[in-house]
Amino acid sequence: MSGESFQTIRLHAAVPPKPTFGAPCNGCGACCAAEPCPLSRVLLGHRAGSCPALTWGEADQRYYCGMAVTPDAYLAWLPALLRKPAARLARRWIATGIGCDFDAEVS
Ligand code: SF4
Ligand code: SF4
Repeated sequence: MSGESFQTIRLHAAVPPKPTFGAPCNGCGACCAAEPCPLSRVLLGHRAGSCPALTWGEADQRYYCGMAVTPDAYLAWLPALLRKPAARLARRWIATGIGCDFDAEVS
């Protein structure tokens, strides 16, 4: 047995190809479509599958974290004072501007 496992994920047809591990993140969305990050689990209560905060950006044809760009839409239950810190945390979590940290092959 090889130990490999497979998962089907659904992404926008125009999504850019996933870069290699460590290369700059291009918003391909594969990581968040595969499983929710800890922030999604804690703040959205999402346990498995594509994160509900994964948001397609039509203008630049890439995915964004909805919690980072429109926190009010996802975190309305949080006191307003806590939404901005939560959005900052989401930006750090998705490693905006740094390398892809999702070690999976997407085909
Ligand atoms: S971290 Fe990697 S898999 Fe996740 S959106 Fe960025 S490039 Fe895609
Ligand atoms: S980074 Fe954002 S879109 Fe991705 S799984 Fe976490 S909360 Fe969801």
